[in-house]
Amino acid sequence: MTKVVKTESEWRAELDPEQYRVLREKGTEAAFSGEYDHVFEPGTYHCAGCGAELFASDDKYDSGCGWPAFSAPAGAEALAEETDTSYGMVRTEVMCAACGGHLGHVFPDGPHPTGLRYCINSAALKLEES
Ligand SMILES: [Zn+2]
Repeated sequence: MTKVVKTESEWRAELDPEQYRVLREKGTEAAFSGEYDHVFEPGTYHCAGCGAELFASDDKYDSGCGWPAFSAPAGAEALAEETDTSYGMVRTEVMCAACGGHLGHVFPDGPHPTGLRYCINSAALKLEES
C-alpha cells in the first residue's frame, strides 16, 4: 500500500475545516449531523483525506447511533487500529491505513457475522456512488 504523507499545512489547505478537525485532530462530528448517517446508496466509501477505499455500502447498516456504521472494512488492509484511552474510556480508534487520518472507533456490538460496529464520521468519508 502507498502511504500518503503530508504536512499539517498541506492537509489544512486541502481539507475543509470539518474534515481537517476530524481527520487530523481526531475530532468527532455531532451525532445525527453527518452527511452519510442515513445514506444507503450503493457505492464505495473512500477516505476524504487521501481517497483510499475504506468501506463498501453493502456493509453499511443503520445502527441508530448517529454516525455512519459499517460491519466490516472494504479490505483487510484498509484500516489501522489503535487503543484510545481519551475521555476516560478505553476504545479502539480506527484510522485510514494509507494516510493515518482519524475515521472513528470500532465497537464489539455490531451485527452478525463480524459482530463489529465501525462508527465512522461522515466528514472522514467520500461516497462514490456506483
Ligand atoms: Zn486516507
